Amino acid sequence: MRIDVLSIFPDYLAPLELSLPGKARAKGLLELHVHDLRRWTHDRHNTTDDTPYGGGAGMVMKPEPFGEAFDELGVDAGTTVIFTTPSGEPFTQALAHELSTRERLVFACGRYEGIDQRVIDHARERAEVREISLGDYVLNGGEVAALAITEAVVRLIPGFMGNPDSLVEESHEDGLLEYPVYTKPKEWRGHEVPDVLLSGDHGKIAAWRHDQRVRRTAERRPDLLAASVVGEWEIVRGTP
Ligand code: SAM
Repeated sequence: MRIDVLSIFPDYLAPLELSLPGKARAKGLLELHVHDLRRWTHDRHNTTDDTPYGGGAGMVMKPEPFGEAFDELGVDAGTTVIFTTPSGEPFTQALAHELSTRERLVFACGRYEGIDQRVIDHARERAEVREISLGDYVLNGGEVAALAITEAVVRLIPGFMGNPDSLVEESHEDGLLEYPVYTKPKEWRGHEVPDVLLSGDHGKIAAWRHDQRVRRTAERRPDLLAASVVGEWEIVRGTP
């Protein structure tokens, strides 16, 4: 996979050199390029924003630098351009899986009041476009969203995870949150590891973990519980 990020604060993307994306690059699974959008400006001040037509507070990101960047980077039908925006579709694990199948992602990070709408309309004429929100809150810029989306997507690229089984039971993979996890020592500051995890009985452990997943999801994220699991939760809770 190749990922290009367009930002007026390229240093914000420095963590992409570290940890998981860094490992994916080292393994040759990911080619990553972070670009300063100001490279595609032509005035003395490297201006990337201007006042909004129609008036109102704040500034809007100008279309020309994005257009020139798309041209130079060869954004085409094989590219998915991601506009990070609070008015986009919510980012989910399912969407991360979908994006992990793409050959090429280009992130356009907004700042100020956002990007001139024509950039998005134009991108749609030459590439697949996704407008994606990290959540129902407003960040100052799209860089944090690009980082989060990149990390979630890259760990799903086939061949990235040393042990792909570790992806299977994770939160949000099948609509349930993950069960609580424990490591050594058996007792710590008066807190014990649940007996069942020390029993060596794999059937019992699997049943306990499933029960914990249902319980945790019902308590914390009832919105995630599929209808079929609601009945199971009522049994676990003892109030069918
Ligand atoms: N005026 C915009 C609005 O109300 O939708 C918010 C602009 S915000 C201050 C500047 C930039 O931050 C956006 O263009 C977007 O790239 C990014 N951003 C802010 N919140 C975001 C979110 N929840 N998800 C993804 N990107 C976000």
